[in-house]
Amino acid sequence: MPAMETPEGYRPLDEAGVREFLAGLPAIASRLGGQSAGWTMSEVGDGNLNVVYLVDGPDGSVCVKQSLPYVRVAGESWPLPLERTFFENAYYRHHGAALAGLVPEVYHYEPALFAIVMERLSPHIILRRGLIAGSIYPTMAQTIGAYVARASYGTSDLALSLDDKFAGVAEFAANNALRRITAELIFTHPYRVTDRNRWTSPQLDDLALAIRSDAELKAAAAWRGHQFLTNAQALIHGDLHTGSIMVTADDTRVIDPEFAIYGPIGFDLGALLANLLMSYFSQPGHETRAGERREQSEWLLAQVPVFWNAFADTFTALWKQGNSGDAYPAVMLAGDASSDIALERLLAELFDDMLGFAGAKTMRRIFGFAHNADFELIADNDRRAACERRAVTLARRFLVEPGSFRTAADIVAAAREAAQA
Ligand code: ADP
Ligand code: MG
Repeated sequence: MPAMETPEGYRPLDEAGVREFLAGLPAIASRLGGQSAGWTMSEVGDGNLNVVYLVDGPDGSVCVKQSLPYVRVAGESWPLPLERTFFENAYYRHHGAALAGLVPEVYHYEPALFAIVMERLSPHIILRRGLIAGSIYPTMAQTIGAYVARASYGTSDLALSLDDKFAGVAEFAANNALRRITAELIFTHPYRVTDRNRWTSPQLDDLALAIRSDAELKAAAAWRGHQFLTNAQALIHGDLHTGSIMVTADDTRVIDPEFAIYGPIGFDLGALLANLLMSYFSQPGHETRAGERREQSEWLLAQVPVFWNAFADTFTALWKQGNSGDAYPAVMLAGDASSDIALERLLAELFDDMLGFAGAKTMRRIFGFAHNADFELIADNDRRAACERRAVTLARRFLVEPGSFRTAADIVAAAREAAQA
């Protein structure tokens, strides 16, 4: 295969390349300390798209993330533009201080190399890994709910003038390579035949076939896909699953915003909801004795209202400080009930969107290209399929009848019901 074309100045960094690159950045070299030859380096290797190095020196550490000209897990047969680290860096820059302490601090971005040098989170682990291992994280759902509220409110028409908001829309409009991955892999592929789909077979063959001829389901998924393409509500993360969150017992950070675009706020909400629930449905598959994961499963369900309420409460608090943007302006709504009525309607709409997107995100993890370790690590195919089938039951309801859910408690009740099957 011919070498892939890349822009002038770009080279994929190996360990020696990372060492040389960082040694040439005085602020980073002094953060690491000592001589560059003595820095230790490891390649993380669990990412889907990019290369990530963790670098330790005597005085400190950093994390280096670089785009490759192709999808890492697929190789050169799936080319992908390098710009994704550009958008990852741009996401952090746009949100700025609003997300300080909730994301890794970015130390440096190198445009020619499409490389970000950022804070190395330690001893954090990927949330999904912790959940699969059976751990609970007492503050995570609250933190992420508030995170989505702050990030989305602050980049929406509620906080920004339309001039500032559409400047952001214009910048992120160019992130089409990753927008296309979402449009196809989440909203289209699970509902049609493609080489990229797979599922637990033959156990779920009946379901894989059924969803391709389920008219109500396909119409709902296509509608959510259209919403994803057209509803530029706020600067969203775009991939806010439990693999994009790193945790310790009491700290929670969001990473990997390379899919950032102006999109529907409910897309980020739905991503976390879907992944909490997929973790919940997967837990029986990880038990080595019956009931071993019961406590963790209860905790997972309890996080659904914690997450939604943290979002709604934080969003409400920001609204009540007075909307200064061009949508729902405080100057117009002050003084009567209109502000409360409008906020209640908007939150109801976001709740509905959260459900629809959670449904779509669950379907793609069971029938599409990229699956979740939560299910994949259940070695026995029959056990895995049983867990996945329950998740699909709920996901279908989210897509087809979101209106039958009014509150987070309704979601919990429906999840319990699906888990009984
Ligand atoms: P990709 O976009 O290729 O999926 P990620 O941004 O998800 O890459 O990073 C891949 C892995 O690298 C993560 O799963 C995590 O283990 C590790 N990682 C990423 N960023 C950091 C960081 N700032 N500190 C420590 N580890 C990190
Ligand atoms: Mg990624």
